[in-house]
Amino acid sequence: MVRRVREIIAMIFFAVFSSATGLTPPYWNRGAAASCSPCLSWRLAAEVNNVEPWRTVPAHCFSCIGAYITGGQYQHDLRFVVEQILSYADGIPVAGDGFDAWILDVDDTCISNVDYYKVKRYGCEPYDPAAFRSWAMEGACPAIQSVAELFTTLIGSGFKVFLITGRDEETLGQVTIENLHREGFVGYERIILRSAAERGRSAVEFKTEMRRRLVEQGYRIWGNVGDQWSDLQGQFVGNRTFKLPNPMYFVP
Ligand SMILES: [Mg+2]
Repeated sequence: MVRRVREIIAMIFFAVFSSATGLTPPYWNRGAAASCSPCLSWRLAAEVNNVEPWRTVPAHCFSCIGAYITGGQYQHDLRFVVEQILSYADGIPVAGDGFDAWILDVDDTCISNVDYYKVKRYGCEPYDPAAFRSWAMEGACPAIQSVAELFTTLIGSGFKVFLITGRDEETLGQVTIENLHREGFVGYERIILRSAAERGRSAVEFKTEMRRRLVEQGYRIWGNVGDQWSDLQGQFVGNRTFKLPNPMYFVP
């Protein structure tokens, strides 16, 4: 009996300790692996766009998606995609005429909203435009490190990098530019935000139109990187598109 009480106290201690430190004890991992199977299926289906459109992460997947985001696999997946991009970019014959272009999305591509979505139960709570705007106004989104390295490499290789974001230009333009600069995104060719005239258009329509203008200006879009399918769908999408992982929200 005493031994059992000791075991329970030890488990409580480990639970509190791991919660405080963000570590996950091995015994939780083993349990989580089995119980997360349906959520791993959901995540894969969401990433390959088989469950569109979805408004929230299934409530029962809160802990599994949280573990994915904070436990290292999300960062691993991001880095893996970036390695594929770098491998492709390395083989592109850069003409040197200033028209070899790449397009990068901003939110959860260049800079991360994970700290915000943590409060929103990793997407189990529905999109809250006012709360997200408040978060974005803080200008405190950290860089996604692997993409920051990609960004620097692309520019160093002679590509013109365009950042295209659905963020509202009027209200979030300045703070977004400052946030990006503070996080090391310096030297891009242009950042394109959603102007007042573009409000109300879907992400696919807006981004297609912005890419069309670049192509008409003579740019060759070699690659297009985003965490949402709506970054990569439509027209003038570029020679190759790269979907970054994001199981927390879906932008139609
Ligand atoms: Mg995004």
